[in-house]
Amino acid sequence: MSDYIQLRLKPGKDKSILRFHPWIFSGALTEDIREFKEGNIAEIVDINGKYLGIGYIQHGSIAVRILSFEKTKIDKTFWVERFTNALNKRSTAGLPDITSTNCYRLIHAEGDDIPGLIVDIYNTTAVIQCHTSGLHQRIEEISTALKEVISGLESIYDKSKETIHSKSSAIQNQLLLGENKSGIVLENGHKFMVDWSVGQKTGFFLDQRENRKLLSQYVKSKTVLNTFSYTGGFSVYAALAGAERVDSVDISATAIEMLNKNMELNGVEKDRHRSFVSDTFQFMKDHDDDYDVIILDPPAFAKNIGARKNAIRAYIRLNAEGMKRLKPGGVLFTFSCSQVIDTETFLQIIYSASLETGIHFRILHRLTQGPDHPVNIFHPEGEYLKGLVLVKG
Ligand code: SAH
Repeated sequence: MSDYIQLRLKPGKDKSILRFHPWIFSGALTEDIREFKEGNIAEIVDINGKYLGIGYIQHGSIAVRILSFEKTKIDKTFWVERFTNALNKRSTAGLPDITSTNCYRLIHAEGDDIPGLIVDIYNTTAVIQCHTSGLHQRIEEISTALKEVISGLESIYDKSKETIHSKSSAIQNQLLLGENKSGIVLENGHKFMVDWSVGQKTGFFLDQRENRKLLSQYVKSKTVLNTFSYTGGFSVYAALAGAERVDSVDISATAIEMLNKNMELNGVEKDRHRSFVSDTFQFMKDHDDDYDVIILDPPAFAKNIGARKNAIRAYIRLNAEGMKRLKPGGVLFTFSCSQVIDTETFLQIIYSASLETGIHFRILHRLTQGPDHPVNIFHPEGEYLKGLVLVKG
């Protein structure tokens, strides 16, 4: 007999778990999930008592998130195995590479079979973001396991306050090990100052690494506009790849301050870049320069399905503005990180913007998140970043 609670699925509600989808919705269970404590580990069985998987409880429509479909214990050994497995996958993709890239995502939630957990590695620091309070209850076990798996780890920062929407908001961001709250990291040989305590997400948008590298091929002696620049990921790559001038726009003054520091850190001459604290739409109204290359990487316009319609309109408007600002033969790098906007819809958005402006475009590349943000084949929802590289004319 196991030590864990057993939760039974209603008849016919086992189809999704048999297809290895890691979410159990509350309506699929014979029991009322609110009678069990959040964070408790539960085994899921079918109506006949057949074992189907093990996961943790969360009050909400997704009542249980599956951690394993095999019979296992959820203890330190479990986390060590999961983290080792994830690290091996990164290594297969060439990450980290101490000479050029020492920041990467170690755990991408369902993509690494740990729903609710994000762990980003910044050189010798791990930044943890739990997306559920249930998982957050295991943070100590998780950080002990991280220390064991990642050699040379000096600090662990728990940044779950922003990502957990719990009624008992006792969760504070804090260092669980060491004292680093910021540091300089390397990405494809480019230097970035990352402040995980005040920065957005875990401090840096690691998912764009490959796409920033691709940008380098398109910017030599070109004028570049990087909108929604954040701390200058795309801007630094453009400048180091020989862009004639890079203009960066972000609504956050803190982000622009960091961007300026990052340009300096990489030795970019002051007369080769300008930065603007502004709303992108306003910037486009206020400035009438045309560019050879434009990057549009907005935050998720649609955070949920309800916001989808308005988001589509906003994406069309943004892309139309960007398209108008490109010189003939210019290149547009355009992205959407809204999970609810799928690849097909994103193509429709670009089609509509192109039709509206009357400007013809060809697709050169179809882009997505990097290999350290893997998508579990049984959880296609994990694919969120979509990008296109288009050429005008
Ligand atoms: N491309 C960046 C990540 C972009 S994240 C990188 O590679 O690192 C989205 C950014 O958009 C955030 O920095 C946010 O401050 C900024 N932002 C949000 N709304 C904006 C708006 N209306 N105009 C300009 N910037 C905006």
